[in-house]
Amino acid sequence: MSSPEEMKKEEAALPRHFIQNIIDKDIAEGHCKKVVTRFPPEPNGYLHIGHAKSILLNYGLAREYKGDFHLRFDDTNPMKEKTEFVESIMEDVRWICGDLDKDQVFYASDYFDQMYECALKLIKKGKAYVCDLSAEEIREYRGTLTEPGRESPYRERSVEENLQLFEQMRSGQFQDGQKVLRAKIDMASPNMNMRDPVLYRVAHMEHHNTKDNWCIYPMYDFAHPIEDAIEGVTHSICTLEFEDHRPLYDWVVRELEFEDPPKQIEFAKLYLTNVITGKRYIKKLVDDKIVDGWDDPRLVSISALRRRGFTPESIRMFMDLCGVSKSQSSVDYAMLEYCIREDLKLKRPRMMAVLDPIKLVITNYPENEIEYLDVSNNQENEEMGMRKVPFGRELYIDREDFMIEPPRKYFRLYPGNEVRLMNAYFVTCTDYVTDEEGRVTEVYCTYDPETKSGSGFTGRKVKGTIHWVCAETAHRAEVRLYENIVDEEKGVYNEDGSLNLNPNSLTVLENCYIEPALAEAEPEDSFQFIRHGYFCVDSKDSSQEHMIFNRIVSLKSSYRPN
Ligand code: ATP
Ligand code: MG
Repeated sequence: MSSPEEMKKEEAALPRHFIQNIIDKDIAEGHCKKVVTRFPPEPNGYLHIGHAKSILLNYGLAREYKGDFHLRFDDTNPMKEKTEFVESIMEDVRWICGDLDKDQVFYASDYFDQMYECALKLIKKGKAYVCDLSAEEIREYRGTLTEPGRESPYRERSVEENLQLFEQMRSGQFQDGQKVLRAKIDMASPNMNMRDPVLYRVAHMEHHNTKDNWCIYPMYDFAHPIEDAIEGVTHSICTLEFEDHRPLYDWVVRELEFEDPPKQIEFAKLYLTNVITGKRYIKKLVDDKIVDGWDDPRLVSISALRRRGFTPESIRMFMDLCGVSKSQSSVDYAMLEYCIREDLKLKRPRMMAVLDPIKLVITNYPENEIEYLDVSNNQENEEMGMRKVPFGRELYIDREDFMIEPPRKYFRLYPGNEVRLMNAYFVTCTDYVTDEEGRVTEVYCTYDPETKSGSGFTGRKVKGTIHWVCAETAHRAEVRLYENIVDEEKGVYNEDGSLNLNPNSLTVLENCYIEPALAEAEPEDSFQFIRHGYFCVDSKDSSQEHMIFNRIVSLKSSYRPN
């Protein structure tokens, strides 16, 4: 991560958004002494780029106002949640934020006792009742947007009866769905969420944390404000679909008489064009083996972005560019690519790799000789120093850098033409060999020893420079190139709702050659491969014996920030 000074500078440079304005006002008016925010995922799947927005927003506000940030697992629903997801979410949040202490991690299920007490309090105040209607009847009684609901026949039960029945719900005397606890609010409210919402239901199910301690579980709209209040959250930031739930959120914290109740604030979700974020769709891609798990580099789960080679800094830059607002919009994936290029540009060494090799033989270069050339690691950042790159009589160059019959304005290698071998010498093509199908297999050249890079040679100029690797010292590697998994032109979904998959989303090149310095790379290390883009060592499949590089992004950009 950037240093604290750098972060401050970045923050100061950004326009302030509406949530910062709200917090500023709360502080100025004395309503908030210390800002506490939280990111509250349900551990029922992997986090994606959209969640990263919420994480960085909450984490960033806590840091900016010198407050606290909590990661709270919203694990109140025993049905869908799994420990596996708890682990992966923790790792993702730690990666995105740069750090995460144990004492920043909370579990909603740790508050089941307090939630139960809260329910008792509402019953005693006459604000909650046990209802025997079935789920279907409750729906019928609720009415519609244009018609008020009808009151449940169980609505006027006495406090004593409600206390007794609720205790019986808790002690397991009822079946799933037989009874629920409901808030007593207003069946005629124009807001459907206020029409006596269910607070607790019976579910004879084992919970991943509390095991079989409970057979009643709180509903989200009841549990969430209590969780926030218990943790002293001051600003409970969520996405727009919860706007209609805010009156209920406020009702819960008010009726439970929490001191300094939390305040819910909604913002617009992040949508990226031509990517898939829906859990249902990703799960299907995984199950159908179209992708290699939730961290397939073509996906935008946080683990996939990490495996693809994105950095937390690039994701933070992206979120800063997106901004925070209340209006729904979608952002082009190219903007995310722009951010990773910007982030890696000065930080990563620029290496030579040949992805589609043909042999180049320098006929006048001594046999069995290898010389070591001094090469700058990053011409735009001197601080990255130099490295030695071996050079010899036989090299590999990329197929696209040689043509038998070049079109106009092709300045690379062709018979009779002279080019610079990057960081090395001028070579002139004298001959070439093709196979039976006419594909070039070898190119012959002569070199001019006077033209060595860095020697100060100024005798003549050439128009083209091509990269290469020395055949004798090169290592073989596999390279994986990616395109969007859904077709950019045609949109994400077909008319029948199925995904419109791009057949070229993955290209595997098995016969690539890399310069020897790259063979030392560790999983997740990333580099620029000159002319080809930015690449990282795949953290899942790559090994010392069989190195695999993922292309993070090519060098060309269609996106320009305004
Ligand atoms: P999904 O259904 O897309 O997996 P979710 O909303 O079900 O997402 P939760 O675990 O409930 O997942 O979300 C945790 C937090 O992340 C919530 O506060 C939610 O509002 C926020 N969040 C989810 N998707 C986005 C998004 N696309 N942009 C910003 N915040 C998001
Ligand atoms: Mg959810």
